[in-house]
Amino acid sequence: LISVRGVDKYFGDFQALKDIDLDIHRGEVVALIGASGSGKSTLCRCINRLETITSGTITIDGKPLPEEGKDLAKLRSEVGMVFQSFNLFPHMRAVDNVTLGPVKVKGVAKAEAQKQAMELLARVGLQGKEHNLPAALSGGQQQRVAIARALAMQPKALLFDEPTSALDPEVIKEVLDVMQELAEAGMTMLVVTHEMGFARHVCDRVVFMDSGEIVEEAEPEQFFTAPSSERARAFLSKIL
Ligand code: ATP
Ligand code: MG
Repeated sequence: LISVRGVDKYFGDFQALKDIDLDIHRGEVVALIGASGSGKSTLCRCINRLETITSGTITIDGKPLPEEGKDLAKLRSEVGMVFQSFNLFPHMRAVDNVTLGPVKVKGVAKAEAQKQAMELLARVGLQGKEHNLPAALSGGQQQRVAIARALAMQPKALLFDEPTSALDPEVIKEVLDVMQELAEAGMTMLVVTHEMGFARHVCDRVVFMDSGEIVEEAEPEQFFTAPSSERARAFLSKIL
């Protein structure tokens, strides 16, 4: 579904991504892990074309990423992204945050979009909170609104960039549980995370980055018990 080939990304003279090759197949859940500054967010942002790549190709369903305009909005509805900082519109109620994209980008009728939004908010466990402003929701609830908002676009895949890093420990699980349900429902997901339990038990594959390179790709059990690279061993010894 998502194919990254020979991708390099420079910020000025600094090379943030080095010859990245990565395939994510339909229904696959891939954990992207690595130290701070290794290029995880940059890779996600390039796949969603929030950043342009310097060289190489990225295709979604065989089609290269669009350059601009309307096609870009379509791409971002097909490949949704959930950020560490939720990025909800603060002046809009939960339900309106979820409704906006389908109405504006997909031309869904308002009443229909609203009905779907209520269903999605219930699916992420937020029944009764639909009319709250983001400020009147906990961090975990805000992140679940952000997930519902991404789902409202009926995406082919979702990218998560440290979706639980800004959350208090006691609400991390409620977000991970929603993500696990999505994974089990067959959603294609790329998840940047420091939640090694999630990477190990929910994801189909672990991709380990260091200094802008993909150093190792393996099944979670293999990766966590017998990483093949020295760099992965060093990383794991620091965090586990
Ligand atoms: P973290 O775990 O801290 O989120 P990361 O793996 O997501 O780290 P990136 O945010 O992708 O890392 O950054 C990779 C490298 O690219 C870093 O060295 C960072 O300083 C650099 N970088 C990222 N964005 C920019 C930018 N807009 N301009 C210049 N350098 C950047
Ligand atoms: Mg990051």
